[in-house]
Amino acid sequence: MHLYLTKDYVGLSEKTARIIADYIIQKPKSTICLTSGDTPNGVYQAFVQLVKTENVNINDCFFVGLDEWVGMNQHDEGSCGNSVFREFIIPLAIPAEKYHFFNAKATDLKNECIQMDAIIANLGGLDIMLVGIGTNGHVGLNEPKTSWKNYAHISDLEEVTKTVGQKYFKSATILSQGITLGLRYFSEAQLPILIANGEKKAQVIQKAIMEEASEDLPASIIQVTSNAIVVVDEAAAAGLRQ
Ligand code: PGA
Repeated sequence: MHLYLTKDYVGLSEKTARIIADYIIQKPKSTICLTSGDTPNGVYQAFVQLVKTENVNINDCFFVGLDEWVGMNQHDEGSCGNSVFREFIIPLAIPAEKYHFFNAKATDLKNECIQMDAIIANLGGLDIMLVGIGTNGHVGLNEPKTSWKNYAHISDLEEVTKTVGQKYFKSATILSQGITLGLRYFSEAQLPILIANGEKKAQVIQKAIMEEASEDLPASIIQVTSNAIVVVDEAAAAGLRQ
């Protein structure tokens, strides 16, 4: 694991966007997993700027969505896919044949997982996997105690995820399950990146980095993923100083 510490969220966003862009410059035909939530939005904005100012060629990249709330897809406001579309897919005008997102409105969710796994396998696995971290240590919608051996799968959400997830919606929304890439993808990615910012992530970042790695805390997989890159700002790194 390699840890980058940045002064603030802007620094985290710029550093992470730079790491992703540099990888694509080296390998233009990359398969990239995009996370959702509040954390990556700055990264996406910085990346869009880099693509425009430095002419980073993303035409040969393929993008997949990390996760989705069961019952939703990218057309639903507040959904995981929706924020990635708003911040990344639409600003970069990425054509439909260059991305695949879970349709968690589908009746056959197992088939959604099979399709996603097949698409990634056909592309030779993930190059970049960008993930955030929940206050309970979840990564994507891999909740505590989820096997690190999983590829795409369906998960039951913890209460804290259902509660915190309300922030993405304009009105109270029932969240019960998720569909997500599993953490096997994180261990196998060429460039697995975990990002976290702000005081509210300090405690979980401390646990993920300093406590013994275990499936009880999904994000602790960073300790046993030798090529993992972790980018945190000073506020999220507060617990690492003790
Ligand atoms: P956030 O969510 O970026 O909105 O804090 C992170 C996550 O739950 O993975």
